[in-house]
Amino acid sequence: MHPFAYHSAMVSINSVLDLAKLRAWIDGVWDESILDRLRAYIRIPNQSPHFDPDWERHGHMEAAVTLMADWCRAQPVPGMRVEIRRLPGKTPLLIVDVPGDLPGCVLLYGHLDKQPEFTGWSEGLGPWEPVLRDGRLYGRGGADDGYAVFASLTAIAALKQQRIPLARCVLMIEASEESGSIDLPAHLESLGTAIGDPSLVVCLDAECGDYERVWCTTSLRGNLTGRLEVRVLTEGVHSGMASGIAATPFRIAQQLLARIENPVTGEVLLEEFKAHVPADRREQIVATARVLGKDVAGKLPWANGAEAISHDPAELITNNTWRAALAVTGADGLPPVASAGNVLLPQVALKLSLRLPPTTDADSAAAALRTALERDPPYGAHVLFDEDRGTGGWNAPVFSPWLEQSIERASRAIYGSESLNAGCGGTIPFMGMLGRQFPRTQFFITGVLGPHSNAHGPNEFLDLEYAKKLTACVSLVLADHAHSLMG
Ligand SMILES: [Zn+2]
Repeated sequence: MHPFAYHSAMVSINSVLDLAKLRAWIDGVWDESILDRLRAYIRIPNQSPHFDPDWERHGHMEAAVTLMADWCRAQPVPGMRVEIRRLPGKTPLLIVDVPGDLPGCVLLYGHLDKQPEFTGWSEGLGPWEPVLRDGRLYGRGGADDGYAVFASLTAIAALKQQRIPLARCVLMIEASEESGSIDLPAHLESLGTAIGDPSLVVCLDAECGDYERVWCTTSLRGNLTGRLEVRVLTEGVHSGMASGIAATPFRIAQQLLARIENPVTGEVLLEEFKAHVPADRREQIVATARVLGKDVAGKLPWANGAEAISHDPAELITNNTWRAALAVTGADGLPPVASAGNVLLPQVALKLSLRLPPTTDADSAAAALRTALERDPPYGAHVLFDEDRGTGGWNAPVFSPWLEQSIERASRAIYGSESLNAGCGGTIPFMGMLGRQFPRTQFFITGVLGPHSNAHGPNEFLDLEYAKKLTACVSLVLADHAHSLMG
């Protein structure tokens, strides 16, 4: 289709959509009810099952899903069905099914489980206490990803207010995302064909490079975690007696990690962890680097004097979105500094967390990792790597012209700036599952996790103005999706 003709068609549908009214209505819902419910939601410590294995007995997940379901039921959406689906031993799944005026279906995804508290929250802030400061709502889980259900349903309700025809919309809010969506496959199986074959998936669980525009996620990295254990002695021994005779488990662990990554550059060395960056993604990286420049690194809370791995923003984005990286995220066997004596420690265990390039296979990466760590243990030490189930990454299919145009138009209309496409350094397991299940589906993956918003760390916040605007953008994309169905 000729771009101009396409553009004209889009203008004609927008003539029935009153944008000012849409935005005022959305802002009103945020101010009058969403903010209050998000505060209540932040107070609930419903950590994902990995972090709270006893989640069912604690009842926090139940409180969170009930809070959201109750709010959904109160929204003015005719014919809507709100259901909390339960399976034995699994976290609940919230489904909100909004009947369509047109054939076809949109799936809107989010999650309600949370990361643990983490340490280092600033004075006056904390994970389970909502604080509104300078237009930002601080607290765990507001931005990742509690706001998603509220924003998604409000985007739909705002269109219903103006009688804009829509396809059927199904909101799916799961509660095991931060644990690799372990409970989602069972729910999908029990849903069977109930969701149908969505022509569009909207996911509000991703990052934004700044707060000036719509950011569309075009790839996700995979994730692989596991526990590396190194045992040298059966008990701790006076270091004056043992050091120089026995190797420390810490040094052996360092040696093993050097098989995985270059300790100087951080490059992950194993072939199974490498991927080719496609040409279109390279172009997007360059465009993003041009817009963000120093902010690519500047978004991080640097200690005084500390610098990024490279001065080239495109290199940093490539590292962050298309290359593997290793982080040691936890340790057992190392006493706290204050109580550490001159002892040769008998053993250490490290939690390894690797991000995988979008197109690598998590299973072969896991197998290669285990082999690299366990083969030829230095000094015959006892070395064991116990991996968790890996999650593959995902590279989005090419945008349909209507979607590409729609996102761009929405960004210009609401934020006054062009939209940008970028890879995401994080992992959303469900996108990969969906991509494999529905290869023809289009994906609008976006989110509010921008500079300093710090999901998973301390001082997580939701930028309210950005979230309100993003809600309006979702409305516009849903309206355009409906229009694309009308041909
Ligand atoms: Zn999330």
